[in-house]
Amino acid sequence: MNMNKNNFKIAPGDRIGILGGGQLGRMLAMTAARLGIKTIIFSEEQNCPAGSVADELVFGSFQDANLLDEFSRKCSVVTYEFENIPLSVVNYIATRSNLYPGRDILAMTQDRLSEKSFLKSLGLPVADFTAVSYEGDIKTYLEKTGAQGLLKTRRQGYDGKGQVQVPDAKKAVECYYEIKEAPAVLEDIVPFEKEFSVIGVRTLDGTFYHYDISDNEHVDGVLKSSVVPTSMPNKLQKQAVSYTKLIAEKLNYVGVIVVEYFLTKDQKILVNEIAPRVHNSGHWTIDACVFDQFEQHIRAICGWPVGCFDRHSNAKMLNLLGDDVSEWHDLVSNPNTTLHIYGKSEMRAGRKMGHATTLEAI
Ligand code: AMP
Repeated sequence: MNMNKNNFKIAPGDRIGILGGGQLGRMLAMTAARLGIKTIIFSEEQNCPAGSVADELVFGSFQDANLLDEFSRKCSVVTYEFENIPLSVVNYIATRSNLYPGRDILAMTQDRLSEKSFLKSLGLPVADFTAVSYEGDIKTYLEKTGAQGLLKTRRQGYDGKGQVQVPDAKKAVECYYEIKEAPAVLEDIVPFEKEFSVIGVRTLDGTFYHYDISDNEHVDGVLKSSVVPTSMPNKLQKQAVSYTKLIAEKLNYVGVIVVEYFLTKDQKILVNEIAPRVHNSGHWTIDACVFDQFEQHIRAICGWPVGCFDRHSNAKMLNLLGDDVSEWHDLVSNPNTTLHIYGKSEMRAGRKMGHATTLEAI
């Protein structure tokens, strides 16, 4: 039976590929299954959270040419659920399948320096920074600013990994050594009042949509909670949404895009970073909206119309990090709290094991 009546790119019964098998891949696969779309996960971890809910798991190295070929031949559309995928892999896929968001977007967001330079080129406010290719760059910058700085590796950093605070120019060598002398950026430390994010979606026809903004709390660089509604004034919310839209448009983006921001103590907003994928700070949409970020992403990359972005409840999403997951008894005892456990085979301190969202009537 031909299910594709409207020339959408993908119809129920077709297959989408997901690079990465973590919890974001798991939630994408669960949503796709409800829509009758099959998913193939490509993961370097055999017991990955997404593997047990997808139609198929391709397990092995991303660099294995045979596996990569098998995976890309099977999928009509490919997306990714994390950023640290070798560019050679996405280059290969992009020539054989539709890849959303596109290859150039991933290449740019994999490198903090390119990302910050891109944001600056759009005229968007970011924390002042400098590129670091040896310890002298750190010394010179901190001698000039006379303040502390945050050193971040250009690549492979996430959840606060690859970051070290540099107290003053005298500690340049020691701190650079701590990040294994990797190419880096050194940023001013932002005295922020809060952090927040905008979850946007851009469709194949170039229309941009967004959810309500959430206020996010991070502990040691890892997201701990997201709350909607935000307490930010409307004017600042509109400004952040317009920045997110501009970024998505300039990138000719397709799918869910998340932009994380700081609100400074003097009420200015600064862009922190872009996540070219579904995001932890959007998990509240699963329970507080009819159409969550995962469904919007799948619809967008399949060329379908997206659903509505309204929120029917206020929500607080709490990440269950490491041993927090053992509190599941207490969480399920609250009739207004939903529980999401990712099925990870091993618990480690600080690892994202699940989340819980507590809803409140609007
Ligand atoms: P990132 O991986 O860059 O998103 O950083 C993780 C977390 O570290 C952020 O969510 C903030 O809580 C904190 N952080 C990152 N950059 C800065 C900065 N320039 N100033 C203050 N805090 C920061």
